[in-house]
Amino acid sequence: MEHELQNLEREARQELAAITANSQLEDFRIRFLGRKSRFSTILRQLGSASDEDRPRLGQLANTIKKEIERLYEQRQEAIRQSTSTADETEAQPDLSLPGRVAEIGRLHPVTQIMQEICAIFENLGFSVAEGPDVEQDYYNFEALNIPAHHPARDMHDTFYVSDSILLRTHTSPMQARIMETRQPPLRVIAPGKVYRCDSDITHTPMFHQVEGFLVDKQVSFADLKGVLTVFTQKMFERDLPLRFRPSFFPFTEPSAEVDIACVICGGEGCRVCKKTGWLEILGSGMIDPEVFRMVGYDPEVYSGFAFGLGVERIAMLKYGIDDIRLYYENDQRFLSQF
Ligand SMILES: [Zn+2]
Repeated sequence: MEHELQNLEREARQELAAITANSQLEDFRIRFLGRKSRFSTILRQLGSASDEDRPRLGQLANTIKKEIERLYEQRQEAIRQSTSTADETEAQPDLSLPGRVAEIGRLHPVTQIMQEICAIFENLGFSVAEGPDVEQDYYNFEALNIPAHHPARDMHDTFYVSDSILLRTHTSPMQARIMETRQPPLRVIAPGKVYRCDSDITHTPMFHQVEGFLVDKQVSFADLKGVLTVFTQKMFERDLPLRFRPSFFPFTEPSAEVDIACVICGGEGCRVCKKTGWLEILGSGMIDPEVFRMVGYDPEVYSGFAFGLGVERIAMLKYGIDDIRLYYENDQRFLSQF
């Protein structure tokens, strides 16, 4: 029996030394210290020992039990400490890690160009006016010398809301709206969204225009050339040659389309300028006397010029983008470049 007790102690020490988890510890407690453990079995045999041996064996059993309990508690404490250290390590942030940088949003490239255009004209003394996207047929066409059956209406694939209400096809209605309510001298630009039923590599159903006009006494075509030359120089940050080509718009006479020397090849000829060395950037002209008559200005006293430019077109040329639809696909990889 004495021998059995000593074996039990040795086994208990070995097992405890190998224990690393609480579940193993509980298993150990049941097998070595519980009521149905080997230890209890040995203690029950104590009754059958001789009167002479019983006190000595009893004392030995007690010492060994206490020793196993002590070792058990020691192990328990060691496991508790090692797991709590592990928990703390996990919860503590690693201060040496690089921080996460918050993504900062940017203005859409079209908005950026629109603001740049407005800033250039504001420096030239123009004021900014905005008008409704949903427009009356009268301001979009009629007041701009485009009557109901005028062939020029074919140039615009218009989204009609009703017979007399439409989504404006250009920002030019602002000309009539402002001239109706104000007297010259006028220097105004009108930026905004316009709509046409068209979609391909160079057209989107919605795009942006900036309309500009100046009305005063003795305004000439030279003033128009001067203003547009300053604008293109500022916009493209270099001295680009300008070319005026005769054209036709119902609300200007004479009318001209304006080209700049190709910003990609510098006039040598490339794919973007279709080997011509020139890029069309806007339409312009002297305001037709008929438009003045409709708003009550005397065309014998006043003259003026007007121009309209496509914002997406300018942005495409400035940034070298060849598909207008990219602006409206909301691809972060594209938009984050600006
Ligand atoms: Zn070119």
